[in-house]
Amino acid sequence: MNIHEYQAKELLAKFGVGVPAGYPAMSADEAVAAAQKLPGPLYVVKAQIHAGGRGKGKFSELPADAKGGVRLANSIDDVRADAQDMLGNTLVTVQTGEEGKQVNRLYVTDGVDIEKEYYLSMLVDRATSRIAMIVSTEGGMDIEEVAHHTPEKIATIDIDPATGFMPHHGRAVAHALKLDGKLAKSAAKLAKQLYEAFTTLDCAMLEINPLVETKDGELLVLDTKMSFDGNSLYRHPDVESMRDETEEDPAEVEAGKHDLAYIKLDGNIGCMVNGAGLAMATMDIIKLNGAFPANFLDVGGGATTEKVTAAFKIILSDPAVEGILVNIFGGIMKCDIIADGIVAAAKEVNLSVPLVVRLEGTNVQKGKDILANSGLPIIPADDLGDAARKIVAEVKEAA
Ligand code: ADP
Ligand code: MG
Repeated sequence: MNIHEYQAKELLAKFGVGVPAGYPAMSADEAVAAAQKLPGPLYVVKAQIHAGGRGKGKFSELPADAKGGVRLANSIDDVRADAQDMLGNTLVTVQTGEEGKQVNRLYVTDGVDIEKEYYLSMLVDRATSRIAMIVSTEGGMDIEEVAHHTPEKIATIDIDPATGFMPHHGRAVAHALKLDGKLAKSAAKLAKQLYEAFTTLDCAMLEINPLVETKDGELLVLDTKMSFDGNSLYRHPDVESMRDETEEDPAEVEAGKHDLAYIKLDGNIGCMVNGAGLAMATMDIIKLNGAFPANFLDVGGGATTEKVTAAFKIILSDPAVEGILVNIFGGIMKCDIIADGIVAAAKEVNLSVPLVVRLEGTNVQKGKDILANSGLPIIPADDLGDAARKIVAEVKEAA
């Protein structure tokens, strides 16, 4: 799960991390009220969307030479004008895709006198099974570009979970950022605070770009992105409450409500499967037969009629879906119960695309009989290969 910049800064501040003062705003009036609480004279009005590259982004509704999604404002009047310009409009950045994202929230923050910009991020490195800190003196810009052209300017520091964060990790961060004296001490302290925040909050990723050195010799987090391990959110109701559903795929939000694991993909064959492993195998075999899955969908162990119906509706809400493959192994749930669920759900949603069903497991014959006698044009399949070939043929025929 992702959160907004202002929310991430709020969380980091609780761990002692230095961030400029600022307040979120949902309207131009709120933006003005936020600016009035800040010392000025320089304010920064920042679009809050779950995507980076806002500074260089463009608003679809504004002239091409209009300012982007991070604007310096020299007066309260400018804050109001910038807020009015941004709210409700669509910001297109390198990370949003062409369709962009509508700006519904702003963050009004203190303008900082920047001496230098740095980069610092943290992630769970699967290769080393450790948390890695990635730091660079080249902050403020696209880190992928830096990695591509000048990889020597990026340092990676792994932290062994058996020892946790040690003073030498802090020194390594300061050294990689080429800092000394007071700033080196601040960098080491900051790295420790970030590690504490990352592990305490079960983060999946934390990126600070830029981390800045101010003219007064302070280190401040100017921009940050934070994402969390969805499986641990139950431990962090404060983080969960920061969820902004308007930033998420509506079908994925709906799936979450029914406890379905759904991820939209680019193909045209909708998949409904129980178990993540079987779901992945199903996607693989669709690809092997020359087509592409429209989604990953795991209905879980207890595939009830309600869940199957919700899953059908979610799959069909995707206009790209031209056929559905149901691949369910009846272990805990028996095949006849699942077949009842599929028939009821298919009737309720007025199924408009070909449906291939492969059932296996307990009471499989009873299940197949229910499908065959349902009066619905369900295409039965005997095994995974058969099922994939059938649905791919149906979709190709229709095309
Ligand atoms: P994004 O990465 O989405 O473009 P940033 O918050 O990193 O957004 O802002 C882009 C640039 O704007 C920063 O690299 C920095 O130079 C400038 N900037 C952002 N916030 C402030 C601030 N509070 N004070 C001064 N400059 C800022
Ligand atoms: Mg940034």
